[in-house]
Amino acid sequence: ERPIETLENAISETQPQRDSILPGKCVVHWYKCDTRTMDNRALHLASETAAKHQLPLLCFYLISPQDFEAHLTAPIRVDFILRNLQKLKEDLSELDIPLYVETVERRRELPSRLIELCTIWGASHVYCNAEYEVDELRREATLTRSCLGKGISFNVIHDTCVVQPGCLKSGAGGALSVYSPWHRKWCAYLNEHPEQLDAFPPPKKNPPATLQAYPDLFACKIPDAPKSKQLREEEKTRFHTMWPAGEHEARARLSKFILERILKYHEHRNLPGGNATSNLSAHLAAGTLAARTVVREARDAAPSKRLTDDRKQGHSMWIGEVAWRDFYRHVLCHWPYICMNKPFKPEYSNIEWEYDLDQFGRWTDGNTGFPIVDAAMRQARHTGYMHNRCRMIVASFLAKDLLIDWRMGEKWFMEHLIDGDFASNNGGWGFSASVGVDPQPYFRIFNPLLQSEKFDLEGNYIRKWIPELAGIKDKGIHDPYGRGYAKIAEVNGYPRPMVDHKKARERALARYKAGIGRD
Ligand code: FAD
Repeated sequence: ERPIETLENAISETQPQRDSILPGKCVVHWYKCDTRTMDNRALHLASETAAKHQLPLLCFYLISPQDFEAHLTAPIRVDFILRNLQKLKEDLSELDIPLYVETVERRRELPSRLIELCTIWGASHVYCNAEYEVDELRREATLTRSCLGKGISFNVIHDTCVVQPGCLKSGAGGALSVYSPWHRKWCAYLNEHPEQLDAFPPPKKNPPATLQAYPDLFACKIPDAPKSKQLREEEKTRFHTMWPAGEHEARARLSKFILERILKYHEHRNLPGGNATSNLSAHLAAGTLAARTVVREARDAAPSKRLTDDRKQGHSMWIGEVAWRDFYRHVLCHWPYICMNKPFKPEYSNIEWEYDLDQFGRWTDGNTGFPIVDAAMRQARHTGYMHNRCRMIVASFLAKDLLIDWRMGEKWFMEHLIDGDFASNNGGWGFSASVGVDPQPYFRIFNPLLQSEKFDLEGNYIRKWIPELAGIKDKGIHDPYGRGYAKIAEVNGYPRPMVDHKKARERALARYKAGIGRD
């Protein structure tokens, strides 16, 4: 049985119990990756249930340091989560709803602590939004059953995807593993069911007596990050300025993007030196913004007011990119073995990878001698973010030019990026290393120099991130050692290219062919 089916079965077993449950003292919403009040399906249902039974709504979030370790959550992301929780607490308290936050040291104790808290508070119903990674699905399936035994209705709701996993099928009724036909069906489904994009209103205000009834929950403070995930003071200052937290900030960013940049998205989205994309990935990953919200707002602002796969129009192109997020989540539900970092196609399991830590270190530090690769890696280190085109370039460089196991790069991204998201990151690495679902063909190997010339035409992106090369005013910046700027590069300590791309390409082709058993 696939984990998603385990969860669906557990949910359906509880269905008959739901309405027969006697009202307790409160209804509870368990926050996870959905730290917002607006357009939150599970929170809305919790609020409706509370209103129906005239009970207060309580909210809580359990911090699990072991989960942060297991999921390789970057310190910058942990810090962002905690700041989002602070904002959420303020927003909820305006509705007289408390947000209780507690750290649970041992991961396996999280379900029992959850049940314990709900029992103490006298919860009749618990709501949360589903997460589709295997461990989380199994945990929620177990919780659904355990809560039944305590007379608590535990409700896991589909919310994070715009289209619920399992709704889109091939002509033969199976799951789809190629993006383009999947995307056409995704658009058609949402055009046929526009109500799927309707917004869920924020929760209703609690009865005034809630504050007196649960003073400890209102008073609780947001804990500090676990020791191993703490940022240095300098990093805090830098990241807090770059990445303001909270759903109001997320919505303001979305509105600005739709007003100012979405129209030209299809033309400029691949240029890392510009500011053409939305920069919303951190908020979509944290759940301060729902994917449903961004698709609805972009559709409503689009000339056609419909979803299409038109790649020559900014709004549809952008919605199509947001759809990739759904696509990789659907893939995760249908083929959960990718959670074990297995290549999507079994025949790609036999490629012989390298594990050279010195070479890997030059890649992570941005010292490969390939300016576009180094600029991107340094941007990631400084900001916790990397442009999509650059993610593809650096991933291709690691997996193909260096033949280093793509999973080392996948892990590094999770450990350093503010938007680290298992499904999208795994999908992006699988695509770039040609081992994933609907990947780039293995024989398509990015030439870093050509990519650099094409997407950073003037070299401004490189100039910004590599001060050693900032003095080079012309196209020599893309390849200083090959284009007459060896002296400047050398004097300033910029390294020579660590590999010869032509030879590296030949080596990669041979290795891939041998691995997958093809000539
Ligand atoms: P925009 O271009 O404005 O796109 C809007 C939103 O659509 C993004 O915020 C994101 O939620 C979604 N999106 C766009 N492109 C993709 C895509 N290819 N796959 C999945 N979702 C997409 N995205 C993450 O959110 N988290 C990751 O950990 C992540 N790792 C990646 C690793 C690799 C190797 C690659 C090639 C891509 C990865 N992506 C990841 C996808 C993409 O690079 C980022 O979503 C994007 O750069 C974020 O910038 P933006 O918000 O300005 O995007």
